[in-house]
Amino acid sequence: MTESKYIYDFSEGNADMKGLLGGKGANLAQMSKIGLPVPPGFTLTTEACLAYWERGAGLLDDLWAGVEEAVARLEKAADKTFGRGENPLLLSVRSGAPVSMPGMMDTILNLGLNDETVEALAANSGEPRFAYDSYRRFIQMFSDVVLGVSSTHFENEIVDAKRALSVRQDYEIDAATWKKLIKRFKEIVKRETRSDFPVDPWVQLRQAIEAVFKSWNTPRAKTYRRINKISDALGTAVNVMTMVFGNLGEDCGTGVCFTRNPSTGEKGLYGEFLVNAQGEDVVAGIRTPQPIAELGSTMPTLYRELLAIASMLERHYRDMQDIEFTIERNRLFILQTRNGKRTARSAVLVAVDMVEEGLIDRTTAVRRVTPDQVEKLLHKQVDPSVPVDVLATGLPASPGAAVGAIVFDPDEAERRGDSGEAVILVRHETTPDDIHGLFAAQGVLTSHGGMTSHAAVVARGLGKPCVSGCEALEIDADRGTLSCGGRTFAKGDILTIDGSRGLVIAGNVPLMEPAMTDEFRKLLTWADAEAAVRVWANADTPADAARARDFGARGIGLCRTEHMFMAPDRLPVMKEMIIASTKEERVTALDKLQVMQEEDYRGIFRAMEGLPVTVRLLDPPLHEFLPKEAEIEGALKKLRDEGRQKAPETLALERTLAKAKALKESNPMLGFRGCRLGIIYPEIYEMQIRAIFLSCLHLAAEGVEVVPHIMMPLVGVQEEMKRLKAMTDRIAEELFSEAGRSVAYETGTMIEVPRAALIADELAEYAQFFSFGTNDLTQTTFGYSRDDAENKFLAQYVAMRVLPEPPFRSVDRNGVGRLMRIAFEDGRRVRPDLGIGICGEHGGDPDSIAFCHKLGLNYVSCSPYRVPVARISAAHAAL
Ligand code: PEP
Ligand code: MG
Repeated sequence: MTESKYIYDFSEGNADMKGLLGGKGANLAQMSKIGLPVPPGFTLTTEACLAYWERGAGLLDDLWAGVEEAVARLEKAADKTFGRGENPLLLSVRSGAPVSMPGMMDTILNLGLNDETVEALAANSGEPRFAYDSYRRFIQMFSDVVLGVSSTHFENEIVDAKRALSVRQDYEIDAATWKKLIKRFKEIVKRETRSDFPVDPWVQLRQAIEAVFKSWNTPRAKTYRRINKISDALGTAVNVMTMVFGNLGEDCGTGVCFTRNPSTGEKGLYGEFLVNAQGEDVVAGIRTPQPIAELGSTMPTLYRELLAIASMLERHYRDMQDIEFTIERNRLFILQTRNGKRTARSAVLVAVDMVEEGLIDRTTAVRRVTPDQVEKLLHKQVDPSVPVDVLATGLPASPGAAVGAIVFDPDEAERRGDSGEAVILVRHETTPDDIHGLFAAQGVLTSHGGMTSHAAVVARGLGKPCVSGCEALEIDADRGTLSCGGRTFAKGDILTIDGSRGLVIAGNVPLMEPAMTDEFRKLLTWADAEAAVRVWANADTPADAARARDFGARGIGLCRTEHMFMAPDRLPVMKEMIIASTKEERVTALDKLQVMQEEDYRGIFRAMEGLPVTVRLLDPPLHEFLPKEAEIEGALKKLRDEGRQKAPETLALERTLAKAKALKESNPMLGFRGCRLGIIYPEIYEMQIRAIFLSCLHLAAEGVEVVPHIMMPLVGVQEEMKRLKAMTDRIAEELFSEAGRSVAYETGTMIEVPRAALIADELAEYAQFFSFGTNDLTQTTFGYSRDDAENKFLAQYVAMRVLPEPPFRSVDRNGVGRLMRIAFEDGRRVRPDLGIGICGEHGGDPDSIAFCHKLGLNYVSCSPYRVPVARISAAHAAL
């Protein structure tokens, strides 16, 4: 059997060999290959690491001759000698796995120093202080990472020495003191390890290499791999490189630069450097580095060389580079290059610019921007560089951040909000009655309720930040206080909420503005070209619809008509309709509502001209439109106390109370709601259907193209769909013949209960489209209340790994997903052109979108503000 080749000089590898040489090694090899000034070095492969774990130290015995030969080549290239001679060769040893991986051994610098070589280095460089400083740094690093001696032992000695010298900084310690400290350091090593510090550079090298191999399997590294789903079978490479020094004098220096601005994406070299310094000094922040452009005046030739190299590297890797360099006696060396980390804003601009510069294609640009980054661009964010005082953590119910004064009452929120003040509405939980306060507030904070609670859904719809289910908060709305962890805030005090992370923060935290730039729009258009599943939006008002369209929605997948009845001018008419004791009374009220609905629909259909608009008929239980029983009783008591027993208001309230009692259910979510309302009170649905068609006919007469989809909620029985389809067709026929014109329309159903999914074939006989209402479908499949489960037990379930993901956030593939697949396949078998989408909150979740793509859905529908995230997610699902 031939031995594997375990050692590669930098000059032998290239960028494609990441698996074998690790990311760092492959990049160093590539740079050497294209002729860049990389200090000579070699890489022990990831296969060597894996063999070490199989065979143990014997592996090192076997490959050691190869290491010696490789070091001999470095000696020749640098004209220095390792561990002896007048001009000693020093090495750095660094780990480098195929994927970037914190948790492993990082770096040992200045390897090869001992009591003799340090003298040679001092003599040769003419800088004794530099030589001893390098030696003591080496002992510290080596002892810490290879020998396991805690660095605090050494740091304590340095602190004592500085005190004795009355100086504050390490660089003020002179050569003689370092020399004394080095002696002391060695004693510490002896005491702690019961062995001498290794003086033989070959032993140092062998131990350092072995330490890198071992660090592949430390508990930290293993945990990191498990969490990030990185294979244990990759192994890490070891890079051994000739040391170069940026701290030998004024013609030396070190720095870090990016080929484009990592925070804005702007083109041009961006970074900083320090004259006469080592890499650590830039990081340690003892001296303030200079902007990279100043290198242009201090070392113009080198600066030009750096610019040329940076641009060459960027063209080579076709991505923004993060480059480490050192200047040793007027010679530039590149120590590392990698793809630069960047903000969301920078990611978008760099990707689009690079397509326009011909560096990458559109697909690559789309791949480089994550849904997470898109999310960040659409909402104000807490500036991550500012320290914050977190009071409590709740659910990240609607992304973005908001700052405002605490207000407990929705009316007050409306009043103060409308007068231009920034307020945060703080409630136990919100109800449809609070909508005006929610609308006027900058954000919403609730102590109860989950990710699909009223506050969460409405806030997402409005694009406002919301933290829900923050159980740690004690809200006393009567006293006007909010307490948490022993601290109390009063009405009017300023809070910041971060709905992306679920944080409640004391005080006014600076926020970063969102950005829907031209580049961003361009990138999303490219994303659409990659995607198979389209993105529609959930929108209830013309303004929402217009916003959704601006964000790129290709239709409305859910218009929840009940939200239209919540407006202050409509609610009384709605109540009138509900408490009607005869059909005539109900029809009178419905006639008034029809006029209002027609106007609503006209606005939405106009805003979405040419695109489908899915209007869902009335869904919630009717009691939601009536005041709470206790409220009615309170008002009644007041009237009776005033002796107004027979007043018309009193009689009306009595009727309302009787109706509220009659409509009361122990389980309203499983009760008299959805299409059950339309079957029992057909006049309600008939009114809505008429309003839809009349508004469409009106617009069609104006030449506006309308595409109405009428959707029935909570269908679970074929007969429901059959009757409601017949109702729709009957009304269409009547109105179309009256108007002398017709519009094409579709009638379909939501799939929100397991039975609907299981009889999808029966439903598809009458339904022309399906839309998965995964909020209710999750609720009914698991038997978990969508309003309560999250903060009662679900969060703990996820923390305890009873469930892998919160099922109201990400589609449960095995259960809910299975029902979706059954419905999809059975529905399409009966009706091959059945349109199928999703309009539950999952429609905006990247992971769920990937699942919908896999199922083959036509569209996902989500709140307008999530449309861009969904567009990029749909593209990523297809790539
Ligand atoms: C659903 O149940 O998923 C749905 C979209 O309807 P709603 O959230 O209005 O119940
Ligand atoms: Mg529903």
